[in-house]
Amino acid sequence: MRELLDLSPAELEAYFASIGEPRYRARQVFEWAWKHLVRDFSAMTNLPVPLRERLSREFAIGAASPGATVMDAEEGTEKVLLVLADGEAIETVLMRDADRRTVCVSTQVGCPVGCAFCATGRMGFRRDLTSGEIALQVLFFARRLKGEGERVTHVVLMGMGEPLLNYEATLKAIRNLNHPWGLNIGARRFTVSTVGIVPGILRLAREGIQLNLAISLHAPWDGLRAELVPATKRYPIADVLAAAEQYTRATKRRVTYEYVLIDGVNDSPAAARALARLLAGRLAHVNLIPFNPAPGLPFRRPPLSRVEAFKRALLARGIDVTVRYSRGVRIQAGCGQLRAARLGATPR
Ligand code: SAH
Ligand code: SF4
Repeated sequence: MRELLDLSPAELEAYFASIGEPRYRARQVFEWAWKHLVRDFSAMTNLPVPLRERLSREFAIGAASPGATVMDAEEGTEKVLLVLADGEAIETVLMRDADRRTVCVSTQVGCPVGCAFCATGRMGFRRDLTSGEIALQVLFFARRLKGEGERVTHVVLMGMGEPLLNYEATLKAIRNLNHPWGLNIGARRFTVSTVGIVPGILRLAREGIQLNLAISLHAPWDGLRAELVPATKRYPIADVLAAAEQYTRATKRRVTYEYVLIDGVNDSPAAARALARLLAGRLAHVNLIPFNPAPGLPFRRPPLSRVEAFKRALLARGIDVTVRYSRGVRIQAGCGQLRAARLGATPR
């Protein structure tokens, strides 16, 4: 069975042409699935019954079943484990914050980058998600919110996996979610978080879409960065920053730099000074993320005083910075990444 959400509007049109149906069926079906959030073809009342039957034999819509759900009512945060058609499971998080409803989505099962401080990285890489599997995470919570008279306002690609190592599926999912026939979520309401895959950043700069970019830097020196983020040795920090610069020129978007602060590893005054020198004069914003402990990770969160000192060192050098304390720790949200997802790099 094929996944309907894997198809773009153009692909749906080609499909209907191939079975001798008029082109406007594509828009009808896309609207049902992506705007009205229907999962059952029998509900698509403007399609002839035989066509509905044929479609339900050929396609599933958003084929994933919610496994465990964990909620933190106080924080308004909810994490769901979604079990995919092949039995693999991914984590998706909904964050409610004032008037924002942000969904944090995964792009891969596991992650090939293997960051030393990341629970997803430690589990290794299992497979890429398809564009339909990336998008269905947003539709899952959109459906939930719809029942409450609300809608998804922002999407952050900060769950499991490295989005720019699953480039095509990620972009296709974003374009479908952005499409006026569907949820029509504005481009500037998406944030792609990458560990700094230079070719991916350059490609994104050429897409002609104004997504927010967050780059996970974590160190001001290549040697230390290679220890924390092993798979990015090929992309020296200078190249990552040059790519970010190009992204800013092309999109006019400010780039966010994420920096997980780890006790005694990358939180020294010298590191803060070096980071400030790197970012001086750039259209940049730093998000400091005090390390979020997870079982099996051999690091500690720095004491508050050190976090504050690091922040002040950046501010004193004119660098725009925020600290995001862990939210969602109590529900173990997204591999210790939820807090990063909450960084709200996207403007309202
Ligand atoms: N692969 C992408 C996006 C997913 S990770 C990336 O690395 O940017 C999203 C964010 O969560 C990253 O900034 C990552 O550094 C952060 N993160 C991962 N593990 C963490 C932990 N244990 N504590 C705090 N932040 C963490
Ligand atoms: Fe992958 Fe991001 Fe985790 Fe690094 S921090 S292992 S890139 S998910």
